[in-house]
Amino acid sequence: MKENSMKYIIIDLEWNGANTRTGYFDEIIEIGAVSLDDQMNITSEFQKLVSPKQTKKIRGRIKDLTHITNDDLKNADGFITVFNQFKAWVGTGDNCMLSWGNSDITVLYENLKRYDLLKEIYILKNFCDAQLLCQKAVDIPLTKQIGLSAFAELVGIEIGEDQLHRALNDSRLTARCFAKLFTPQLFGEFVKKADPVFYARMNFKCYNLQDLADEQVVMSDFMTECPGCGSFMKRLTRFTCKNKKHYAKYRCDACGKKYNISHTLKITYDGLEHKKILNEIGATVDATDAEETDGMNAVGTEGNILEAE
Ligand SMILES: [Zn+2]
Repeated sequence: MKENSMKYIIIDLEWNGANTRTGYFDEIIEIGAVSLDDQMNITSEFQKLVSPKQTKKIRGRIKDLTHITNDDLKNADGFITVFNQFKAWVGTGDNCMLSWGNSDITVLYENLKRYDLLKEIYILKNFCDAQLLCQKAVDIPLTKQIGLSAFAELVGIEIGEDQLHRALNDSRLTARCFAKLFTPQLFGEFVKKADPVFYARMNFKCYNLQDLADEQVVMSDFMTECPGCGSFMKRLTRFTCKNKKHYAKYRCDACGKKYNISHTLKITYDGLEHKKILNEIGATVDATDAEETDGMNAVGTEGNILEAE
C-alpha cells in the first residue's frame, strides 16, 4: 500500500441483548468487516463469531434475524480473542472505520469498555457514517433513516442470495453502497477523527431542559423578532411547560401580530440549543380573509368593467 493512503474498514456487528447485573447490554456475537483500498477495491475480509459471556441465551428476535444459534456460538472464541484477531487484521496504518449508521461503533465502544479495553478503540483512526454519506449522495434527508437493504435496492445494487443481517454480508453490502457513491468531497464532509472528543460527543445523552430556573438557561434567548417586521416582540404570558417544551404568547407592537411560540431548550455536548417554533394567532386568519375579500372585489370590478364595455 502506498504511503499516506487511507484504508477503509467497513464494519458490521451482530449483537444480542443481555440483561446483566449492571443493566442492559448489547453483547457482540459476530464481527464482520471488509477492507477497501483507496481505489474502492475489497482487499481483505474478516468474519468471526463471538461466544457471549453475559448471557448464553440468544434472543428469539436475534435468532430470527441473523439465524445465529446457540450451537453456532458454542465453539466460538470470546470477545477479547476475537477483538485481538480483528485488531491484527486492521493493522497499524491510517484507516477509517465505516458502518451503516452509528450503532455499530457505539456497541463496539460499549463492549470494549466492559472488558476494560477502551483504549483499543483507537486502532480505528477515523469514523465515517456510510449511511449519512450515501443518503446525502442521493439527496435523501439525513433525518430519515433508510435501512441498508432498502437503500441498496434504491441505488440499483443487487443483493442476490446473500443472507442479510449477517456481519460479513452486511459489511460487503455497505461497502458496495459506499464504493458506488464515494466522492472525496462527500467523504471529507462526513469523516471525523475518532478521538476522545468524538466518543465523548457520541456518548453524550442529549436532553431537553424542563426547569427554566436552570443555570444553563439564557433568558435573552427567549426574545424573538417578529417574522413580519423584524422588531422584537413583547411576551404576553408566562411560560407553560408541556412535553419539555415551553410555550408563551407574544405580540409585535409594531405590526400588531400575535404569535404562540414554543421554545425547546436542548442540552447537547456542545451546549445549549434553543429552538423556536412560531405560530401566528388570529391575525393569520384575518389576513387571509382580507386577501380573499380583496380578490373577490377585484374580480367583481373587472366583471363590471367587462359588462360596461
Ligand atoms: Zn411586526
